[in-house]
Amino acid sequence: MGMTTTSITIPAFIKIEKGALSEIGSYLKENGLTKVALFFGDNLTDMFGERVLKSLEANDVEVLMNMEPDSSNIEDITDLAFSMPNETQAVIGIGGGKVIDTAKYCGFLRKIAYISVPTSTSNDGFSSASASLLIKGKRKSVPAKMAFGIIADTDVIKSAPLRFLHAGIGDMVCKITANYDWQFEADNGYATTNDVAIMVAKKSINSIARIQFDSITDEWFMKELLNSLAMCGIANEIAGSSAPTSGSEHLISHAIDQYGKKPTIHGLQVGIATYLMSIVQDHRQDRVRDFLTRTGFFDFVATLDLDVQDYIDAIDKAPAIKPFRHTYLHEEQYREKAKEVLFNDDILKKIFKL
Ligand SMILES: [Zn+2]
Repeated sequence: MGMTTTSITIPAFIKIEKGALSEIGSYLKENGLTKVALFFGDNLTDMFGERVLKSLEANDVEVLMNMEPDSSNIEDITDLAFSMPNETQAVIGIGGGKVIDTAKYCGFLRKIAYISVPTSTSNDGFSSASASLLIKGKRKSVPAKMAFGIIADTDVIKSAPLRFLHAGIGDMVCKITANYDWQFEADNGYATTNDVAIMVAKKSINSIARIQFDSITDEWFMKELLNSLAMCGIANEIAGSSAPTSGSEHLISHAIDQYGKKPTIHGLQVGIATYLMSIVQDHRQDRVRDFLTRTGFFDFVATLDLDVQDYIDAIDKAPAIKPFRHTYLHEEQYREKAKEVLFNDDILKKIFKL
């Protein structure tokens, strides 16, 4: 009596292993899902179609729909969701963020299971419950649903371009600054944190930051990265918001996407902004620097032709991206400090060729 509990939705299965894509049929069958809609990312049917269909057929899973959806428009996706046959039990998204978000939103609208099958690690979207869609031409994060199952084949992830792996690293390390921003909001009376969400998010980054590896394409490293990214989606679910995994570093990336001259992949921008913000926050900058150095992230982003002005503008525009939040960048003194760090830190100077 008088006791309050919190309930959340978690995936029924998470299969992160070598060859997992060829086992998709048995994972679905084990979970009673035998009538599915299949969505592949652009041109991915050629690459993975046969492998997936063979496995589904071998397990008597019926494919009611098989296509490469090509729109991020919320209206197009709504039409697509209601064109799925009534007996569809699950919608499967195989590919990058765009097709996974499409499957996620269709599953949400139709109240059926959605299965997330990322083919690269570029961000934590494959495990999050929200989808990034276009509403009247503008990109918005809309509520959707948690994956019923997550299937990631490390052989497939390994064959994706290296920039996606670096992007995944960037979108992972940011949990350090994001959590500190959330704590900062709470300390200033703008938010209430959740201890379990913080614990899960912190454990996810600590576990990957502490392991030894020779190369980021090591099986062991990729598995850890995927597991950690998957845990982040669960931290958000516990929090009921993206606060545990998205703070000031994400505001910088969103602002660059919106106003920048040379935007690049989400996770790469987030990784650079995380390093910057760890110095501004004066919190765990050694850990962030060490992890991004060891993984080769800094060397990789230094090969991109990035524009420091995009970052300066993004710092100024950050508070307006999410005016209802109160991260470090919502205070002028820290925006000033961030701009100073951009021009004075040796690693950042190298990245921006200053
Ligand atoms: Zn992110």
